[in-house]
Amino acid sequence: MGRKKLIAGNWKLNPADADATLELLRQLKARLAPFTKTPMAVIPPFTALHLATDILKSTRVAVGAQDLFWEDSGAYTGEISAPMLKSAGCKYVVIGHSERRQYFGETNETVHRKIAAALKHGLTPIVCVGETLSEREAGVMQEIVREQVTQALRGMGENEVRRIVIAYEPVWAIGTGRTATPGQAQEMHRFIRELLADLYTINLADSIQILYGGSVKADNAASLLQQPDIDGALVGGASLQADGFAEIVKAAELIA
Ligand code: PEP
Repeated sequence: MGRKKLIAGNWKLNPADADATLELLRQLKARLAPFTKTPMAVIPPFTALHLATDILKSTRVAVGAQDLFWEDSGAYTGEISAPMLKSAGCKYVVIGHSERRQYFGETNETVHRKIAAALKHGLTPIVCVGETLSEREAGVMQEIVREQVTQALRGMGENEVRRIVIAYEPVWAIGTGRTATPGQAQEMHRFIRELLADLYTINLADSIQILYGGSVKADNAASLLQQPDIDGALVGGASLQADGFAEIVKAAELIA
């Protein structure tokens, strides 16, 4: 196996001003310095990317963006492209977050196009999938996630898919304080890995990092990260406190 546990903090639309952003980055730089085994990333809003890459440049903490557009340049007011993110120093880009699917019309097709653009420019896409509460209650969560993964990767070869990170984020657990149990999360992660083995090879499926996201905090991180198919966490709310985020990284570091 040999998969490392990536801990990535998705700041969403936070912090509201430049001073708070600078302070959070400085605190993260200090709190995360002791960790030597766990890959880490912060994923701030676009406006903070240059500051983040500058402050974190000589650390082990990578920087990612929360979205991108699939065209490289042109008349697309308000959009940000993969080459722009690459030149801003990003390593990762989140694609298909449920908030983008819910509020901004993201579909499996746009997710697919964005993944292709990210890969073309050497960014690592963190592709979010996950079912809503009503889909879980109807027992169709695996069908939903199968469709999301299959459509996202449509037509992509092994060499491309190997460079993708998947994040399983049940929509009912995002920002709600309600976490999937370690058993529920492990079951879906296993399902995704088996799906990747069916679509590609067992070897590829074994090499892909599948993160869990949904109300991960210092006090539940260890039990989730101990699951054999959970290869890290995409952390929202708890990534805005340097101490809490560092505790999650520490939990990963102790398991690695
Ligand atoms: C997220 O934004 O990807 C997320 C998982 O948020 P939270 O940790 O706040 O549930």
